Order: sequence, then C-alpha cells, then structure tokens
Amino acid sequence: MSGTLYLVPTPIGNLGDISRRIVETLEQADFIAAEDTRVTVKLLNHLGLKKPMVTYHRHNTGWGGQAVLDRLQAGENCALVTDAGTPAISDPGEELVARCAAVGVPVCAIPGPCALVTALAVSGQPTGRFTFEGFLAMNKKNRRAHLDALRGEERTMIFYEAPHKLAATLRDLAEVFGPDRPVSLCRELTKLHEEVRRTTLGQASAWYQENDPKGEFVLVVRGAEPAGEAEATLEDGLALVDRLRGEGLSLRDAVKRAAKELGLSRNQLYDAAVNL
Ligand code: SAM
Repeated sequence: MSGTLYLVPTPIGNLGDISRRIVETLEQADFIAAEDTRVTVKLLNHLGLKKPMVTYHRHNTGWGGQAVLDRLQAGENCALVTDAGTPAISDPGEELVARCAAVGVPVCAIPGPCALVTALAVSGQPTGRFTFEGFLAMNKKNRRAHLDALRGEERTMIFYEAPHKLAATLRDLAEVFGPDRPVSLCRELTKLHEEVRRTTLGQASAWYQENDPKGEFVLVVRGAEPAGEAEATLEDGLALVDRLRGEGLSLRDAVKRAAKELGLSRNQLYDAAVNL
C-alpha cells in the first residue's frame, strides 16, 4: 500500500506560526522532501527534530519527484516542505502533487502559513472574489500577455514578487491598470518589520523607482470597476489591436483577443481596424 504525501506549511517569518499538527506531521513522516535542506534543518533544530531529508526543488522536479514517488509507492510517508509557506503554491510542490494524483498516491494538505491568504486578509481590498496570479513571467511577451488578459479583471488580484523585480512590476501594473488603481503592498508579513502600505499603483511605482525595496512582498491590486460603469470604446479596442499586432499577432488574432478582453463586437472592431 502506498504511503501518503503530506504538504506541510512552514512559517513565512514568525516561528510562532507552527501548529501542533505541523510538528506531529514532521515527527511522524518517514522522510522530509525539502526545497533547501539548509533552511529546513534550521527549522528542525528549532523543533528539536531529526529526520532523513531529500531535496526536491525546481531544478530536480523530474528525477527528484520520481525518487520521492518511488518511496511513497513503496509505502513510506513523506512530508513535503518549502523554504516558507504552503507547498504547491507558486513552487514545484504543485508538480509532485499532480504526479501523486495521477497514480493514486494519497496527498494530505496540512493548513498553515501562506503568504497570499495572509496578504489578502490584511490588504483592505475586497476579499469576496479574488484571483491569485503568482509571479509575472520575466519574458516580456509572456508578461505582457498575462497582464493584457487581466485588463478587465474585476476581482481583487494577488501577485507575488521578488524585491529586485518589484519596481519593474509596479511600473508594468500601473501602465496596464492605470496609475490611480488602488494597491496594497504587503511587506515582510508576520516579521518584525511587517508593513501594509495602501496606496495607488502610480504612487507605489514612483516611490520604488527612487527607493530600493527591502524584504518580501505580496501585491494586492483592486479589480477593475464593473464593465457597465466604464465601457470600452472602439478606440480602446483599436489601441489594443495595435499593441497586440506590435507583439506579433496577426490582425485576425489581435482583433479576436482585443474584442474578447474589452467586450466589443469582433466584426465591428475588425472593420474599424481594416479601414484604418
Ligand atoms: N508557497 C509560499 C506561500 O504561498 O506561502 C510562497 C512561495 S513563493 C516562492 C515566495 C513568495 O511569497 C515571495 O516572493 C513573496 O512574494 C511571498 N512571501 C513569502 N513570504 C512572505 C512574507 N513574509 N511577506 C510577504 N511576502 C511573502
């Protein structure tokens, strides 16, 4: 019989956030698969635990994942941990869970610290409907496509970002959603210098073009006003078609995507673009 893969969250800053169930699960597992064993060994020392560990990180998801799966299928129980937060949320744990699910190996998620939920809760932005967008791609084209797809998004949007890319990301977000769009910058959550700055994308972008960001950030961006209150015009559609064409899309594909994103008639937009 297969063992179980336990997804074990670890603190995103404050060691006090370790629950009794988290400790028990680590204690009872046969081995731990860790993103970085040097980080995890510090946590285990803090808890007074000793456990065999293997590494499982984004550079060895193939053979590393298979090795973990083999042991699970041989009946061992594994606790999967990352450097911080909930495994499988914007980290390679996602692939290991999918592998287990595909072959029927049981997976059990232990609730605990997670940066996105903590940020959303404290952000002051609407929490009823939200979308988690993770990290934006580094690649310019993919990044632009991701942001364009969010242009009319009405739900609160949550982004992860590394400090050295924060200024560029805020600039891109301000460009796509407009400088007046409210954003909550949730920094160093659960840590000594925890801070939530509720501002606009324009102001945040201007600040971080001049000041170096320190620490870890989650960005919680207010969604767009409901479509009825700010309807897109044919001119908006033509401008978007023009930009998408610049990114290499054919006229037909650019019109199709722009019409869908802005809620415009595809035929009308196509005629207008052709007649330009
Ligand atoms: N799986 C983890 C989770 O969901 O909690 C997140 C892993 S992801 C690789 C790391 C990102 O989470 C960071 O770049 C940052 O955006 C966010 N993060 C982690 N800890 C944080 C903290 N204490 N304060 C703010 N953001 C944090």
